[in-house]
Amino acid sequence: MARYTDAKCRLCRRQGEKLFLKGERCFTAKCAIDRRNYAPGQHGQNRSKVSTYGQQLREKQKAKRIYGILERQFRRYFSVADRYRGVTGTVLLQLLEQRLDNLVYRLGIGASRNQARQLVRHGHILVDGRKVNIPSYRVKVGQEIAVRENSRTNPLIVSNLEQANGRGRLAWLEWNPETMTGRLLDVPSRDQIPVTVKEQLIVELYSK
Ligand code: SF4
Repeated sequence: MARYTDAKCRLCRRQGEKLFLKGERCFTAKCAIDRRNYAPGQHGQNRSKVSTYGQQLREKQKAKRIYGILERQFRRYFSVADRYRGVTGTVLLQLLEQRLDNLVYRLGIGASRNQARQLVRHGHILVDGRKVNIPSYRVKVGQEIAVRENSRTNPLIVSNLEQANGRGRLAWLEWNPETMTGRLLDVPSRDQIPVTVKEQLIVELYSK
């Protein structure tokens, strides 16, 4: 499976905003956006006017980077969303939110989506009592996501959950700290998805 392996903070700097790709570091003064909020590279500090196409492209890149997805898979999500009833941009984000790696991150088991993806790949996560090691697995409403029994004392998971408990969780997710299990209660509406993506621009880009 192909994935982006270069410096994550470059992606935020390119985007000009925090995409929260590195877990706890993103909440500290070490965040590259707080220290150098300009695009990476030699001409990063030159300002240039962004065309409409450029804005659409930036929004698409932002969504891909937030959810850690490469172009081909992202395009596939778009074509699925396009076939569904409803607002295509919203459906696109809802599909992305239902990915197992995203939910493991949202529940606080992983500090970032990248780390959540790794926890899933390494078999630490159960869905409805069965091991699922596919990060893109689409979780359905009502399904239970749990930390495997042997992994409940894993120091990384324990420390991630402690930090997540302090920050709180989204209303459409349920979390039981005793059993380390969570549940997708509902498909979130657009205003319940805390990402700053202007999804309409992505729809316009792909509809050309
Ligand atoms: Fe982005 Fe986090 Fe790096 Fe800040 S620390 S630039 S939010 S990945």
